[in-house]
Amino acid sequence: MIPFVRDMTFEYGRPDVVSPLIRRVVANNPGPFTYLGTGTYIVGHGDVAVIDPGPALDAHLDAILAATAGERISHILITHTHLDHSPLARPLQQRTGAVIYGLDEPLHQADEGDDQNGLAPDEAARFRPDVVIADGQTLSGPGWTIEAVFTPGHASNHVAYALAEENALFCGDHIMGWSTTVISPPDGDMSQYYASLDRVQAGRFGVLWPTHGPPITEVDPFVDAYRNHRLARERQILGELRHGHATIAEMIPRLYRGVDKRLHGAAARSVLAHLIHLVRTGQVHCEGPPKLSSYFSVISNRTMGGEP
Ligand SMILES: [Zn+2]
Repeated sequence: MIPFVRDMTFEYGRPDVVSPLIRRVVANNPGPFTYLGTGTYIVGHGDVAVIDPGPALDAHLDAILAATAGERISHILITHTHLDHSPLARPLQQRTGAVIYGLDEPLHQADEGDDQNGLAPDEAARFRPDVVIADGQTLSGPGWTIEAVFTPGHASNHVAYALAEENALFCGDHIMGWSTTVISPPDGDMSQYYASLDRVQAGRFGVLWPTHGPPITEVDPFVDAYRNHRLARERQILGELRHGHATIAEMIPRLYRGVDKRLHGAAARSVLAHLIHLVRTGQVHCEGPPKLSSYFSVISNRTMGGEP
């Protein structure tokens, strides 16, 4: 079981001091993929960085400006270019002159099926920062130092930001305390996602600040449980294949029994993400590139362990 954290005291638009260096303003865009809404972080005092300004909502722009009245926003940092994270970057820049940092548009544009997640519409996909940040690059202001930590998986252009002074990581949507993260191919990539989980854990951060929901303070057990949840799903999928359920369409009602049918489309993309990883790692066979409509089979290999 993943030890989800969901309790959070907040009001839309109100800046809350959540640590010595961090303030958070939540945008009023709650939903099935954003939980209570986008949490925009303001880092530092006087000269500040803003992480993920959020969706294109005038009220949220006003809230960020009010929260930083009398201060200067020097940096706008983007974790990835989904609609609930990056669209307010340009309007905020126009009002403040801050420089926008992040990665260029994702490697893969949205395809059908992605729109049902509301994740990667064209507008977000065309986003370009002023400065394309490099992995490990540091940015700083008075009293704060932030390092870019590339964490692809949820999106190919996902970057987390480590705040050295608090041993904290702004982890975007890579890790979410309230829910599992959506991995939707082709831009979502399960192999990269696993590697990025390893990377976060290796960083030994004391706290993770996700864009949606409250902070994760028990980092190690949380990431372990998060990874184990995916590995358990992987084993279930291999089990389905061994029982002759060769297509995603056959597996979904079995793997997601009791889950709202409206979520089955998103679930299918998540299972596809697992199968792409299993094909890539030589555990599953598929004729041609894996697709939602493909037929899959297990590659039997005694040394691999597998199910009884
Ligand atoms: Zn998000």
